[in-house]
Amino acid sequence: MAKSLCKWKKKDIEKNIHELIHIVDKPRFICKDCARSAHDKGFLCKPIKLK
Ligand SMILES: [Zn+2]
Repeated sequence: MAKSLCKWKKKDIEKNIHELIHIVDKPRFICKDCARSAHDKGFLCKPIKLK
């Protein structure tokens, strides 16, 4: 699934739960708009790096 985590709907989360677990594992970025986290900034719409 290529679209950013920020765009995921509840249904997407249920369908792709295993991919989601991989994406949020050891997060290095958070989205300052949506408060989501990911290991790669490509999954977020307004990523900022975690320190
Ligand atoms: Zn976002």
